[in-house]
Amino acid sequence: MRIERGIATDIGRVRERNEDSFLVEPPVFAVADGMGGHRGGEVASHLALETVETLAREGAGSLADQVRQANRAVFAQSQRDKAVTGMGTTLTAARLEGTSAQLAHVGDSRAYLIRAGVMRRLTDDHTLVNRMVKAGEISEEEAEVHPHRNVLTRSLGTEPEIDVDTDEVPLLDGDRILLCSDGLFAMVREEQIQAICETEPDPQKAADKLVRAANRAGGVDNITVLVLDVHDDGEPGDAAERTAADEPVRRRGRLTRWIVGAVVAVVVLGAAWTFGQRYVDRQWYVGQSGTNVAIYQGVPAQPLGVHLSHVVLVTRLPADKVAALELYRNLSQGISANSRADADAIVQQMQQDLKAAAGGGGG
Ligand code: MG
Repeated sequence: MRIERGIATDIGRVRERNEDSFLVEPPVFAVADGMGGHRGGEVASHLALETVETLAREGAGSLADQVRQANRAVFAQSQRDKAVTGMGTTLTAARLEGTSAQLAHVGDSRAYLIRAGVMRRLTDDHTLVNRMVKAGEISEEEAEVHPHRNVLTRSLGTEPEIDVDTDEVPLLDGDRILLCSDGLFAMVREEQIQAICETEPDPQKAADKLVRAANRAGGVDNITVLVLDVHDDGEPGDAAERTAADEPVRRRGRLTRWIVGAVVAVVVLGAAWTFGQRYVDRQWYVGQSGTNVAIYQGVPAQPLGVHLSHVVLVTRLPADKVAALELYRNLSQGISANSRADADAIVQQMQQDLKAAAGGGGG
């Protein structure tokens, strides 16, 4: 089975940030729609999918286990970091492997299956209005315009443990799976989503068209769409490996072998260096530069005296006063952040906490 994919994410026309995230780690695909003050939404959806990505790569546990672990990661971070307290996210994930799709789902993002002219919803919205629809209290049409239609009954990261909906759907050649955040279906009717999916065979163009349709309808929310086309060519997906292995093995001289060995060593060292560099570049923390609080890129460690970070921004906040607050007593060792945005949020929170401590007296 081969999966051809199209991916589109867009901030929409109203929001100031895109708090949606997506994951493409074949055979695992997912969307997450974050929520929470400051930059909590972004942090939650990123962290949740990063966790699933890492576990999927390691092959650790089932997809549902990975989502449960993502819940713990987001919840722990929300407890640890005051700037993102109460953050949460939806998460709808599909593992397309063998001849089926395994689904794991929390929240109100959705998975659809489009097959032979029929579009079927594969997930249940964990919303208050959906609960009311199921109880027969309101109709589907009333739910669409209900003032509380955005209230979730279940989201990832807001409780220490969580129930994850799971399902397994057999896949056929020609199936199209659609994963999307509510920014799509809140704006575009399902009939229109289906029409776009059925008239546009190219998955990337279909994803782009769906996002455009949501924006044309108002784009009041972030929009994220993954279009996954199932092709059953009868190939297991390891054709390239087989060709390489089947090639005749030639004997090489000692010198050739030495050169090959040296080249491999250089490539491996180079890759390790690049990987290390990239890892370091992706890390952020809030620390101290001189007498002030500063934002650093890198990690707060100096193996063999080598600096692995550099100052990006020196704030006006006095480091000694911030470090005097219980929450930030580890400032001199560096308070780690998930991203630059996260580091900014920590600094913002420090500023507020300083003000509160100065004004509030007893605190
Ligand atoms: Mg949304």
